[in-house]
Amino acid sequence: MAEAPGDIERLIELMARLPGLGPRSARRAVLVMLKKRGAVMAPLAQAMAEVAATARDCARCGNITSADLCDICRDDRRATGELCVVEDVADLWALERAGVFRGRYHVLGGVLSALDSVGPDELRIPRLAERVREERISEVILALNATVDGQTTAHYIADVLAPSGVQVTSLAQGVPIGGELDYLDDGTIGAALRARRRF
Ligand code: ZN
Repeated sequence: MAEAPGDIERLIELMARLPGLGPRSARRAVLVMLKKRGAVMAPLAQAMAEVAATARDCARCGNITSADLCDICRDDRRATGELCVVEDVADLWALERAGVFRGRYHVLGGVLSALDSVGPDELRIPRLAERVREERISEVILALNATVDGQTTAHYIADVLAPSGVQVTSLAQGVPIGGELDYLDDGTIGAALRARRRF
């Protein structure tokens, strides 16, 4: 016999799919929510339903937002002319948390991968070239993974952008970047950005 009724078991199973939550912690979290239904569970359920209904990709940069354009794309105080290219929204959030970059972003949605059959059209690479032209970008900063796929992607992007004459730079090497940005402290991210070099 199950420890909890079917629908509660189902909730535990769903929670257990989240990173950092195995079956045991999922069970514990659900139990806390059940005990604090009014203070925790109901507001959480409502917030999740609202975000699930409105969340989408920013039409310009690929960040997650609840409007057509994300807060960063709509912020007039952001330095125009500088575009930081990241693999994933997690990287964008890490850079924002560090508070060191004042330009705007372009989220690729992954990296090129022959193994997983990810080509340029599966990523936001064609859109990047359009943005460089349309927004009169002067510098594209590549903040991609130091992995083989990350670097292949960086070189591909540099080739695609070469005819536009835009300056392409890359975060300083020696620190894990890209998908690892989220694990770096803010000072390290800032140092990698300041020490960026021509790609
Ligand atoms: Zn945006």
